[in-house]
Amino acid sequence: MSDGFVTKTAENGVKYLVCTALEGIAGLAHGFTTRIGGVSEGVFSSLNISPTRGDPADTSLNRRLAAEAIGVSDNFCFTRQVHKTLVRYADEPNDYLSAEECDGLWTDRRGLTLFSVYADCVPILLYGRGRIAAVHAGWRGTAAGIAKNALRAMEVDPSEVIAAIGPCIGRCCFMVHGDVASAFDEGYPIPQSDGRYSIDLKAVNADMLADMGVREIHICQECTCCDGAKYYSHRRDGDARGLMAAMIALK
Ligand SMILES: [Zn+2]
Repeated sequence: MSDGFVTKTAENGVKYLVCTALEGIAGLAHGFTTRIGGVSEGVFSSLNISPTRGDPADTSLNRRLAAEAIGVSDNFCFTRQVHKTLVRYADEPNDYLSAEECDGLWTDRRGLTLFSVYADCVPILLYGRGRIAAVHAGWRGTAAGIAKNALRAMEVDPSEVIAAIGPCIGRCCFMVHGDVASAFDEGYPIPQSDGRYSIDLKAVNADMLADMGVREIHICQECTCCDGAKYYSHRRDGDARGLMAAMIALK
């Protein structure tokens, strides 16, 4: 069964996912990278895109390889992700290490590649009426409603928006204690026999977008924590891992 996402392997070896609904839109390019197809070694093997983890020359090359594979420019707009809910407007490329704090970017400018990093957190790409957004929704950002903030920032009729919720930690692996569970609305934390709770972060984000009027929401069913060959996972590997990227650009 298809969840509306397809994994592709580019000629340069980079493996990435696309949401087929977004792929069909003229003038738009996007992708969610995996850990496969880069040059990093060891625990960062191999498509680690973070300059703060592992060798910066390797990760710089990995970012270029990933952009080439996905078909976007390397005019990257980065964020310094802090697990909050601020969504900024992107009007020019910036440097990864000096990027401003925020967990989402949107733009209506062509030629900019919005760049969001993740390793379990929920990457969300939005498109509507020539506007795009890239959102990083960890559990804190998810609970606090960053998906809604992004949609508001874009100022597009939600019924015209297509949302792609990419690969991230699934409810199978996102087990939390009561302190985390209490941040979510009733019904989302599912009690487990060991006293913890399972939460479906993809569903929380999707429901928020649907509540605001988004009709077309695609949810990748793969779990970053379950599939160690394909994805980095913070919950599985702690800090001994790289980062993946969600990218989207108007061409
Ligand atoms: Zn899992």
